[in-house]
Amino acid sequence: MTFNETGLKPEILKAITEMGYENPTPIQEQTIPHLISSTQDLVALAQTGTGKTAAFGLPVLHNISMQIKEVQSLILCPTRELCLQISRDLEKYSAYLPGLKTISVYGGADITKQIRELKAGGQIVVGTPGRVHDLIRRKVLNVSAIRWMILDEADEMLTMGFKEELDAILATTPAEKQTLLFSATMPLGISEIKSKYLNNALELSVGKRNAGAENVEHHYYVVHAKDKYATLKRIADNYPDCYAIVFCRTRMETREVAEQFMADGYNADALHGDLSQAQRDQVMARFRSKQLQMLVATDVAARGLDVNELSHVINYSMPDDPEVYIHRSGRTGRAGKSGISVTIVHMKETGRLKQIEKLSRKKFERKMVPGGNEICEKQLFHLIDRVKSVEINEAQIGNYLPQILEKFEGMSNSDIVKHFVSLEFNQLLDYYKNARDLNIKAEVPRDSFSRNDRGCDRMSFTKLFINAGKKQNLNASGLIGLINEYSNRRNIEIGKIDIQRKFSFFEVDSNYEKDLIKALNNAVIEGHVINIGRVQSTEGQQPREGGSFRREGGYGGGFSGGRRESRREPAFSDRGDRPRRRRN
Ligand code: AMP
Repeated sequence: MTFNETGLKPEILKAITEMGYENPTPIQEQTIPHLISSTQDLVALAQTGTGKTAAFGLPVLHNISMQIKEVQSLILCPTRELCLQISRDLEKYSAYLPGLKTISVYGGADITKQIRELKAGGQIVVGTPGRVHDLIRRKVLNVSAIRWMILDEADEMLTMGFKEELDAILATTPAEKQTLLFSATMPLGISEIKSKYLNNALELSVGKRNAGAENVEHHYYVVHAKDKYATLKRIADNYPDCYAIVFCRTRMETREVAEQFMADGYNADALHGDLSQAQRDQVMARFRSKQLQMLVATDVAARGLDVNELSHVINYSMPDDPEVYIHRSGRTGRAGKSGISVTIVHMKETGRLKQIEKLSRKKFERKMVPGGNEICEKQLFHLIDRVKSVEINEAQIGNYLPQILEKFEGMSNSDIVKHFVSLEFNQLLDYYKNARDLNIKAEVPRDSFSRNDRGCDRMSFTKLFINAGKKQNLNASGLIGLINEYSNRRNIEIGKIDIQRKFSFFEVDSNYEKDLIKALNNAVIEGHVINIGRVQSTEGQQPREGGSFRREGGYGGGFSGGRRESRREPAFSDRGDRPRRRRN
C-alpha cells in the first residue's frame, strides 16, 4: 500500500512526503484507512519505533475541523518527552493545514503558560495524565466535546501510577468519542481499561514487537558480580565506535556507573529521574546529536528518547520483566540497521536470561569478555582506520609541513608510525597489561539453577523462617505455591525446605529476601496470620519449636496475634520495585 492509497488529504500527503515518508509502516497500513472511515474504537499492540504516532496522528489530522477552535482530540502519554515528541510530529504533519493548533501540556513546567495557550484555543491537546487532570479540574481544559481520545503507551501510564488520573479524565469525556489505545504490552490493567472505556474495539497487533527486532543480535557475558563494571569497560573498549544506551536498574546504580564511567574517561553521561528537567533535556540533546557516545540510563528516563541509530543496547543490569528486555533491545537494530543487545549477567541470573530467551524467541549467544590483547588490537586498528580516513586540512598543515619533516629527520617511516601509535596507546597498553580474564571459566549450564542444583558458588541463599508447618497442612509444594503467589513471580530460586510441626524453614535467593518478607508478613491465610523472617546465621543450630532463634522481621513469637487484613493485593512486585511516580 502507498500513502496515496490511504485516502489522506493532499496537504497531509505533501507534508509527510517532505518528511521522507515513502510508504506506510505495517501499523499505519492498518490504522489509517480504518480511522479515516470508521468511528469504531481501536486497540493496538505496538511499540515505539513502529510509526504509531503517524498511525493515529495522520487520520486524526485528516478528520479534524480547522474552523472549530475547541479541543477535538486529547492525546495522553506517560512522559513530557513523549508529549513533546508527539506534538513535534503532529506539527510537522500539519505543516500545510493552516489554522491547526496543537498544544502540549505536561508537569514540571510553567502551568500559567499552558493555561494561556489553552485559552487561545487549539484542536489537539497532547498531555501527561497528571497535568491534563489538573487542567480539567481548573476548568481551563474542556474535553467535553472531544471526538478522538488517544491513550499512547497506555501500559507505561499505568506502570507510572496514573490509573486514577486516567479514570478521572476518561469519566469527563463524552460517550460518543472514538477511543484509540496503543500499548506495547497488554497487562491486566489495560484489559480493564479496554472493557470499561472502549466499545467493540478493533484489535490490532503489529506482528513483530518492533520493526528492527530481526536485526538484533543478543549477546551475553557471564562474570562475577564484582566484575560487572570492568566488563562494561571492556565492552566499550572493544566497540570503539559504539553508540549505546547502558541500562541500569535504579537511579543510584545509574548515577554510580555513569560517574565512574566518566571519571574513567569515557564519553558518557547519566539520564535518570533525579536530574532536573533542564539537565535531562541537555543530556538527551547531547546524546541525540552524538556529542555523547554512551548514555547510562534507567528505563523510565530513557522512555522519551527517540534515537534510531543505536549500535548497542547494554543491559548493565538485567531487568526483572522480560518485556522490559524486549523493549530495551528493540531500541537498536532499527531503520534497517543491525544492532547488538548485550547483557552482563552473573551466574545466578542465567536462569532469568533463559526465560527472556524463551519469551523473545531469540537465541542468545554467550560471548567471552575480551582480553587485553584483543582489545588493544581492536583499538589499534580502529586508530589506524581513523588516521587513514581523517580529512586533511592541506592549507593549514601545508604551512607547517616543512618544519615538521625537519623535526622528523633521521627517523624512518616505521619509527614515526611507532611514535604516533605509542603516544596514543601507551596508556591503554599499560592498563591492559596483565589484564585478568573476567570470564567465569566453566561453560554455564543453562539449567544450572534448578531447585536442587546448588552447585553454583555465586548463588546466595538466605534462610527464612515461617510460622506455619505440618499443623497448618503446609508441605513443600504448598510453600513454593505460597511464595510464587505472594511474590507474583515464578522464578525465585528456592533452596532447602524444612517443614516442621508449627513452623518451617526454607532458603530463598537472597535478592528476594526483603521483598518476600514484605509481601508475606502479616498476610492472613485461612485465618492464620503469617509471620516470616530471616534466620540469622545459626549454622547447625536447630531451633526448638516455639523456641528462640534470632531473626529479623519483627517476629512477635508464637502463631497467635490479632487477625489482620490479608495483603494479597497488591503483591510485592507491585510495590517495592515499581518505578516511583514521576512528577506531573
Ligand atoms: P514512532 O513509532 O511514531 O515513534 O515512529 C518512529 C520513527 O519512524 C519516527 O522517527 C518517525 O518519524 C518515523 N516514521 C513513522 N512513520 C514512517 C513512515 N511511514 N516512513 C518513514 N518513517 C516513518
